[in-house]
Amino acid sequence: MNRFTLSIVLLGICGVLSAADLPLVDPPPGKVLLVAQPHHDDHTTDYGLAGVILRFIADGYKAYYVRGTNDEKDGRLGFPRNDMMNLKETYDALRILGMEDHVINLNWRNNFETSYALNDQREQLIFLVRKYKPDAVAGHNAWEHYQKNPGHRNLSWNYEEAYWLAGYRNVHPEHFEMGVGPHETYHYFGKARLDWGRGHRPNVILEMTEEQVKVKEKAIHAHQHVYANPGGARSTRTRLALQGLYLPELEDVDDDTTAGNMMIEWNMNWISRRWGKEANVKYGEDYYYMGEFYHLPGLKEFLDENVEAK
Ligand SMILES: [Zn+2]
Repeated sequence: MNRFTLSIVLLGICGVLSAADLPLVDPPPGKVLLVAQPHHDDHTTDYGLAGVILRFIADGYKAYYVRGTNDEKDGRLGFPRNDMMNLKETYDALRILGMEDHVINLNWRNNFETSYALNDQREQLIFLVRKYKPDAVAGHNAWEHYQKNPGHRNLSWNYEEAYWLAGYRNVHPEHFEMGVGPHETYHYFGKARLDWGRGHRPNVILEMTEEQVKVKEKAIHAHQHVYANPGGARSTRTRLALQGLYLPELEDVDDDTTAGNMMIEWNMNWISRRWGKEANVKYGEDYYYMGEFYHLPGLKEFLDENVEAK
């Protein structure tokens, strides 16, 4: 029994956990993690998935990245060049994280998903689940309240429907003529801003090492086109100065791009520590986890009470 199984069992035995006690889990046994998100940087941001990706890869998983949109709205270069630059930086980040070296690029037009037939995007995701046969899937949590970003909302709904529907023989049976079959995936890790209002709360934490936090910080720096923001460092200095304050760390750096990167790292480090604290470890990432017996709570309770380690 690894810590993943054990923690789920303990959840059942311990009953109600206090708000500050989220269980630590390990990646479940398996070989393939399929991450599907709308944008180039979603796997690396401060509230992103880099920690879980690093943990799965450290356990021997292959991890693949599905980029749902063409990212044309994110950046300063105009639609076509934003798309190209963000695609390049997606590759840069997934190499830093150790993911498989190709992006599965669905290329839906950024922020226009709602006017498309969403079933088409869902069908693409069903096909990818059948093709890559993931043991675990990860992406945005569709039940994140107050999410304004249409890409996050639409792709997450489609992906959560897709990884479940992919196991049904009567769903898109035409796929089977292309050499794939039904595939069932039981482990879903949904990432979201779950701390900004009512809705799903995270129910598990994955611990990260200090080294993995550093890799996560390095990965977000791959998206320099969007995140390197000299103006952010300048305006922070100005706002502090207006109150007669200064931050020695920022004063010592005369390059505003470097100062902007440092601010990203402070935020990244803070969020890793903030969620680690929930499980009494130094660094962590929070997830809403749905497991193999999520839909069968009675069976889960029986297993929690009766399963034993071999
Ligand atoms: Zn995004």
